[in-house]
Amino acid sequence: MSAPTYQPETLAVHAGTVRSQFGEHSEAMFLTSSFVFESAAQAAARFIGEQPGNIYSRFTNPTVTMFEERLAALEGAEQCVATASGMAAILACVMGLLKSGDHIIASHSLFGSTVNLFNNVIKKFGVETTYVSATDVAQWQAAVRPSTKLFFLETPSNPLTEISDIAAISKIAKSCGALLAVDNCFCTPILQQPFTLGADIVIHSATKYIDGQGRVLGGAVLGSKKNMEGVYGFLRTTGPTMSAFNAWVFLKGLETLKIRMDAHSANALELATWLEAQPNVARVFYPGLPSHPQHKLAMRQQKTGGGIVSFEVKGGKAAAWQVIDNTQLLSITANLGDTKTTITHPASTTHARITPEARAAAGISDGLIRIAVGLEAVVDIQNDLARGLK
Ligand SMILES: *Cc1c(COP(=O)(O)O)cnc(C)c1O
Repeated sequence: MSAPTYQPETLAVHAGTVRSQFGEHSEAMFLTSSFVFESAAQAAARFIGEQPGNIYSRFTNPTVTMFEERLAALEGAEQCVATASGMAAILACVMGLLKSGDHIIASHSLFGSTVNLFNNVIKKFGVETTYVSATDVAQWQAAVRPSTKLFFLETPSNPLTEISDIAAISKIAKSCGALLAVDNCFCTPILQQPFTLGADIVIHSATKYIDGQGRVLGGAVLGSKKNMEGVYGFLRTTGPTMSAFNAWVFLKGLETLKIRMDAHSANALELATWLEAQPNVARVFYPGLPSHPQHKLAMRQQKTGGGIVSFEVKGGKAAAWQVIDNTQLLSITANLGDTKTTITHPASTTHARITPEARAAAGISDGLIRIAVGLEAVVDIQNDLARGLK
């Protein structure tokens, strides 16, 4: 008899659960740094890997393992390795898979700390990065060198929601023997499954939608057992692994991920449609809108447009700040993926450290506002924005 296959919403609730001798219904939180052995012989067998089992929570922990199994089931991955944050996941991916002299091709529109990591940390160890357009597939091909080992992208991108064609870029990566890593933070496996489109590695900042309530930091790297070997080895030795407490929070977050992503998406589409009709809004960026330049690709690759909406107000920075400063309900913060709607002015916060020229080249104007749409009633979000849009 083969094991039954389950739908994502079922996996999100059940996958990975292992009960202790007490038969608890909700997953247990194993707050222990180490594990006890029955004998010297058992300790020896565990340490040399002859017998499976827990040794120390920097290596494995039952609560963390349950989270890893559940996320792996949702992404359709052979293995998931949990990390202390999304950045720890990206660091582990690079350190586990690359060596000095290797080359990365990455999308221009990456999360700011990822660019910082590539430019200022791993570069010191002899790994170079070339940045190319998120949307122009030909640029990825043109940037290939004999030393290219990793393609890295994030789709939709932050804050302009540019869509990278995962299947097309994966073909180029395969043809040159490189791995494709996709940061799937904005969509989560509920809206987009990069492995089905040819990705080799999936990265998560669980801090965002997987927690979904803005409480704890965490991340994950997923892929084949073979590709995860070095990633896990790096983490186990260097230490930025996930804590049992955070894993427990993420397990509970995953259980409601499907209904939250559906609700975030429905709210975002309604808000984006409303924003497009506002006279003081020059342009709206949302993959779910037919006006988005890659709407068709987005709808092929993702189940919905997701929960992030950006828009440009007429009147530049002063007008954008007026909208932000007139909100009462929305949280002025750079975080995203929360039940509470957040509002950000990218040009003066998340993208303030890059030069005005680089910002302009990236299309991040002074009038741009990013909204990570929460689970409030859309009418209340609209009213909160309308005050400053007058
Ligand atoms: C937040 C974020 C990260 C980094 O995650 P942390 O948990 O903050 O370390 C990486 N990628 C994307 C797309 C993010 O939004």
